[in-house]
Amino acid sequence: MTGDTIAALATPTGLGGVGIVRISGPQAAAIAHAMLGRVPEPRYAAFGVFRDNAGTFIDEGLALYFPAPRSFTGEDVLELQGHGGPVVLDLILRRCLELGARLARPGEFSERAFLNGKLDLIQAEAVADLIESSTALAVRLAGRNLQGVFSRRIDELVEQLIQIRLHVEATLDFPDEDIDLADEPTIATDLAATLARVHQLLTDAHHGQIIREGLAVVIAGAPNVGKSSLLNALCGTEAAIVTDIPGTTRDLLKFDIQVDGLPIRLVDTAGLRHTQDPIEQEGVRRAHAAAHEADVVLWVYAADSECDEALRDSFPAGCPIIRVRNKIDLLNETAHWIERDGEVEIALSVANGNGLELLKTQLKAQAGLNAAHPEGIFMARRRHLDALERTRIHLQAATTHLEHRCGAELVAEELQLAQRTLGEITGEFTTEDLLGRIFADFCLGK
Ligand code: GDP
Ligand code: ZN
Repeated sequence: MTGDTIAALATPTGLGGVGIVRISGPQAAAIAHAMLGRVPEPRYAAFGVFRDNAGTFIDEGLALYFPAPRSFTGEDVLELQGHGGPVVLDLILRRCLELGARLARPGEFSERAFLNGKLDLIQAEAVADLIESSTALAVRLAGRNLQGVFSRRIDELVEQLIQIRLHVEATLDFPDEDIDLADEPTIATDLAATLARVHQLLTDAHHGQIIREGLAVVIAGAPNVGKSSLLNALCGTEAAIVTDIPGTTRDLLKFDIQVDGLPIRLVDTAGLRHTQDPIEQEGVRRAHAAAHEADVVLWVYAADSECDEALRDSFPAGCPIIRVRNKIDLLNETAHWIERDGEVEIALSVANGNGLELLKTQLKAQAGLNAAHPEGIFMARRRHLDALERTRIHLQAATTHLEHRCGAELVAEELQLAQRTLGEITGEFTTEDLLGRIFADFCLGK
């Protein structure tokens, strides 16, 4: 436990009915005593007057005292709920500092909760994600992490790994008996099963990351096929300029929208084509660049003209493409979708809205939101994905060593590294540097 006592405003600055100053650390009780004349009974709201050092009234309100270890941080915590005015709260906070507390850094309460074992790193991050959530879906998924859904899946994996390690390392203890690991069938099957779980977790985490950061959708295609019209239809506004002069959209238009709780970062690109106009050339250049950062490209073309298949080369390799065959109203078709060579084509009409729902469903599928097991979805960060990917690589290496009969030491070593990497996700293994980076992004007072 850390020695000093921290304090911060826990509610947003500005006017409000109530504002809360939160204090954590060994001096919490002494601060309560100095300001209120008594220490509130643990976990009971106590009404009182908050006084300055001359005994003069600063404010009156509720005080809550949570002695260690049953508090958010695991330390003694005091919460002073005063009136929500910036000056009065500042006076309360100053009084706490006068009484020996220091101003908390952003995220320092959560960091202490982590360091004192009240939360693992995933849960601490979930606190920040919950606060920053911009959709109800994001709140729900961050809440699941706070409740330990993601952590449990990591813990289960670690448990599996430990079992395999015990098995492998047992053979190391008897070098004379010359046990060949490859002849131990359960090791290979257990390893394969663990690897499969890591793969599934990577997929789920990737979806979770999309829900946290938004699906980057780039609308691309030849001029005049209805890209800007599609963007407008998805946004529900007249945001982009729609004209029938090819090449109107010279710059990228970006919009943050949400489709049933899925945040989407939409980018409309200038018509992808070769042009002499320098401004338009710049637009085309940016369109190419945007396509390279996309999670999915909506490749729009018009039903009444040929699709320029050569455009495919301008989309990044491996990036999912949804083909949008627009303007089917001109051919009197009704909306439908087909799958060809693993690529979905949706026939729709932006003009009359027929088929837009099909498109939205496809977009949600990109974030795993139509999955058969929605309970498998949780919020994830790049950090988690990165660690899962490294875990996968270590397990893959262990599998290869096993198959090539490279010796139990090498297999054991990779398994140990895999376990350690998983431990980085929950925070079992961390560096000060990593913690600093994670908690610095938190808001003040959390
Ligand atoms: P962009 O250059 O690809 O962004 O295309 P726009 O969105 O500017 O649209 C070009 C023209 O096609 C405009 O006149 C639109 O009104 C028209 N358009 C867009 N979608 C449809 C559609 O579904 N049906 C029909 N008939 N016309 C459409
Ligand atoms: Zn080009």
